[in-house]
Amino acid sequence: MDTSGASDLAATPGQRDSKMSKANQEFCCTYCKAKSSTPLYPTSDIFGLNYYMHRCKECSAVVLHPPPSIEEIMELPYDETYYGEGEKKFSPLIEAVLDYFRSSRARLLNKYLKGSGRILDIGCGNGIFLDSMTHQGDYEIYGIELDGESARRAAQVPNIHLQIGPLSWEDYPENHFDAITLFHVFEHLTEPRETLEIMERILKPDGTLILSFPNIDSWQSRWFKGNWFHLDPPRHLFFFTPKDFKREMNGLGFEVVKEKHFNVEYNPYGIQQSLLNYVVPKRDVLYEHLKGNKGYTKGISSTSLFLQNVFFKLSYPIFTGLDVGNILMRKGATVEFVLKRKR
Ligand SMILES: [Zn+2]
Repeated sequence: MDTSGASDLAATPGQRDSKMSKANQEFCCTYCKAKSSTPLYPTSDIFGLNYYMHRCKECSAVVLHPPPSIEEIMELPYDETYYGEGEKKFSPLIEAVLDYFRSSRARLLNKYLKGSGRILDIGCGNGIFLDSMTHQGDYEIYGIELDGESARRAAQVPNIHLQIGPLSWEDYPENHFDAITLFHVFEHLTEPRETLEIMERILKPDGTLILSFPNIDSWQSRWFKGNWFHLDPPRHLFFFTPKDFKREMNGLGFEVVKEKHFNVEYNPYGIQQSLLNYVVPKRDVLYEHLKGNKGYTKGISSTSLFLQNVFFKLSYPIFTGLDVGNILMRKGATVEFVLKRKR
């Protein structure tokens, strides 16, 4: 992805015209391509463009409508901090705790693979996860990322096999990988079902798939609806409840081994930023500020940014504590699944 995050994020007249002409566009489910849906609630993105969330009547996916075009997706202001590297958002103590949990992904996968194997990370960002796998054991590492600064950084990871661009049927042979991972990437895919079908083919029988995404059945999602931070329009294109996701994966030849709702990196911040979205005139201002996106925050006073920062730092431990309820009730803001390909 490219690093145009510092640009002014107001929609251009061309973007607005194209969005208005698409507003009456017929619904088409990003996941199953069905045409019938139930409208749920409105939302708007950081460009000030409006959308409606729909539930697909066929597969029950909750889908952003109208979807951005491929060209619009390629122009989105992703940057390296979107993938969790760059300017530190937290105090050193909290960062140390977060680093422990971030590296827990590598420890988790190593537990399933027992020290060796061939791993593909789809949407590998700057390649930190794959690099940390090589410190866990004897791993052959493959990454896929869209062209941009993150991919350039990933290319520096020793011994990485890096592919630029989306996954296609011809890329890898059948039964090639011991594990495939997608950390907060599934909801960005323009062809999610086909990608899952390809993964089922290139993963070995009994191979491990780890996949995490925002939980549209979470309390955060139900409370905040269009203001929910993890809705993240227009980057996130569709959502499944854990129940619907498990049904789909079972039909595609996978079985669920583990479902985890605990995540200190994503979940407490989701409630903090969603609350701020009610009192600040634009969505996700603090998040863009912490990423260093000066173009987006230039109309916001320094007092407001300071107060948002104070709220964020003081209330982080409180919301982390409150999240225990979400975890116990299986309603976490994000969810991570470990699955196995059926034999
Ligand atoms: Zn559908």
